[in-house]
This record gives sequence, C-alpha cells and structure tokens, in this order.
Amino acid sequence: QLKPLEIPSRLLLGPGPSNAHPAVLQAMNTSPVGHLDPAFLALMDEIQSLLRYVWQTENPLTIAVSGTGTAAMEATIANVTEPGDVVLIGVAGYFGNRLVDMAGRYGADVRTITKPWGQVFTLDELRTAVETHRPAILALVHAETSTGARQPLEGVGELCREFGTLLLVDTVTSLGGVPIFLDAWGVDLAYSCSQKGLGCPPGASPFTMSPRAVEKLQQRRTKVANWYLDMSLLGKYWGSDRIYHHTAPINLYYALREALRLVAEEGLANCWQRHQKNVEYLWEGLEDLGLSMHVEKEYRLPTLTTVRIPTGVDGKAISRQLLNEHGIEIGGGLGELAGQVWRIGLMGFNSRKESVDQLLAALRQVLP
Ligand code: PLP
Repeated sequence: QLKPLEIPSRLLLGPGPSNAHPAVLQAMNTSPVGHLDPAFLALMDEIQSLLRYVWQTENPLTIAVSGTGTAAMEATIANVTEPGDVVLIGVAGYFGNRLVDMAGRYGADVRTITKPWGQVFTLDELRTAVETHRPAILALVHAETSTGARQPLEGVGELCREFGTLLLVDTVTSLGGVPIFLDAWGVDLAYSCSQKGLGCPPGASPFTMSPRAVEKLQQRRTKVANWYLDMSLLGKYWGSDRIYHHTAPINLYYALREALRLVAEEGLANCWQRHQKNVEYLWEGLEDLGLSMHVEKEYRLPTLTTVRIPTGVDGKAISRQLLNEHGIEIGGGLGELAGQVWRIGLMGFNSRKESVDQLLAALRQVLP
C-alpha cells in the first residue's frame, strides 16, 4: 500500500526549477474550470497582456505554450523554419546546441557561429556572420544556463533588419530576472519557461512572435511540421476565434497568471534590480569563501552563476551534501563544463538575501 505523497522541502538554488511563491501554489490549488469557460478565457487574456509587459513587447501573438521551455523553443523553430532555410545559430553553450539539433530536424540549412563556453558574441562578430551566411533566421541564447553568460542584444535586431533576417532569442533563464526589451531590441521570436525567473511550476511556457515573424508564417510554402505547436492553429485558440485546440493545463495557467501578477505588483524594474542586488551579494560571499566565478563580471547573469570547482574538490560530493544535509539543491556543470563548475541559480521568489545566507552558511560547513 502506497503512502500519501511525501516530498522533502528543498531550497532550489540550481539552474531551475526554482521554488514557486506560496501564492502561486495556492492559485494552482483552485478547482479547474473548462478550457472554454469565459472565466478561463478572461484569464488567458490577462496572461497575454502580462507576458507582453514582462517581455516589453506589443506583439499580438504572445501566448503560453502548454509544455516546458523546450516546447516553446520548438514552437519558435517549427513555425518559421522551412526546409532549406538558412538558420544561423550562436553556440556558446549547451542550449545553443539544442537549437542546432532542433532546427536541423525541421530541415533547416544550419550554420553556426561559436565561442568558448562562458563567452558572448560581439556585435561585430555577429555582423560578419550574418553578412557571410545571409540567414533567414539568426538564433541566440540571451541567458545561456549552461555557462551563466548573458548575451548582449543591443543592435542585433537592427543588424537583422538590414539583411531581412528574423531574430530568434531564448529567454528561458532571463525572463523576469534580467532586463529584456524585445521590441526595442527588434527581437522577432522569443520563448521562455515558467519555472525560473517567474517562480512558477514548470509546464506553461511563454512564446511570442512579431508581426514580421507572423508574415513569414503566413507565407510558408509548406505546413508547419508540428501540429501541436502550429501557431496558425494555436493562435486561433488564444485569439478572438477561441477555437478548441487542446485541453489546456488549466491549473498551470492559474499559477502562471498569479506568478506574472506578482511580478507586475513588484514592478518589472524592481524585480530586475532585486535579482541584480542579490546576485552581487552572492558573488561577494562566494569570493570570501575563496571561490571564483567562470564568467567575466560584465557578462554574468543575475539569475545563474557558474562557480569554478576548486582543484582537488569533489564537486558532486559537495552538491550531494548540500542536498542531503541542508536541503539545498545546486546544479553541476553541463556538457563541456561538466565536472568543472557548480551552477547556482537565484531566480524569481528565490532571489532573496535569506536564500544566499542559507547557501553560504551551508557551503562554509561542507567545503573542505
Ligand atoms: N533554454 C535554456 C537556456 C534553458 O536553460 C532551458 C532549461 O533549463 C531550456 C531552454 C529548456 O527548458 P525546459 O527544461 O523547461 O524544457
């Protein structure tokens, strides 16, 4: 006989998920209504306008995809990629490589521009690559969770417009925690997740498309090769037509709406400042412990810090001790950085001085 569910309480300071705000969990605990119920349709409208706010965009086609960040990632690629399209992808970490794999599966002629993991592309480097490849789409990861680096995006949208290229950006680890100005930066497609900077459980993932990107969708020669994520169908559920598309995970949308409401209540700029202030406090504390960061300060993310594992220290054993003895989750290195770094997230509700204090106190005990 199975016992009722028992999950240990954890402080989630890894690369995501982060702990959800108690008000978000409470919202999730509301009884579901039908996915075409007027109350739910009104909630969808609220989610759309709150997403436009957190992304700083006016894009009409701004929705939440039912699925995790990877589903929203796939939605961007699937809708605007046709077989043979040149898609240029900036790869300086694990998630750049995921985009490469995905775009290839949709028949794109994938080209890459690469940088060592932990570094970012300069505007000049991007210009040279765009001039060389003349891509239909340029895809960049704003916040590379595998390295902790923040890719600057100022000027990239203008560059793309010069060449008729659409700019696609991964904001999974930046939305809610790092300043983003989609329209001012000329970003045409973006996606994110719910479980990081927004402090919500995973499963309802922000997605947006500019009118320029919608035009490319409308002019396709071929059908979108993914029924579930085809915006010409899904857009009719989120838009005024309200045509049944799939049974939305109602309770996740309750949670997302509450998480976004909390960001709006705090104010987006205040939210960004809080993330920056708390991460600087974390960096100081880690340096006091004799640890060093993997990314140059100027390009470090406020949401995710990669910390070098000192020589001779068993990184996995430290993470295990933090979890088992202190209830704190941090992440290990991914891909090329496996075994070399820890990844510490301060995202959404978890970006608080108390989280940092708790982690530093635990590290003082477990580090040799
Ligand atoms: N892109 C980046 C930068 C990520 O960090 C992640 C997940 O951590 C994803 C995409 C995929 O998101 P998910 O794991 O929610 O599917």
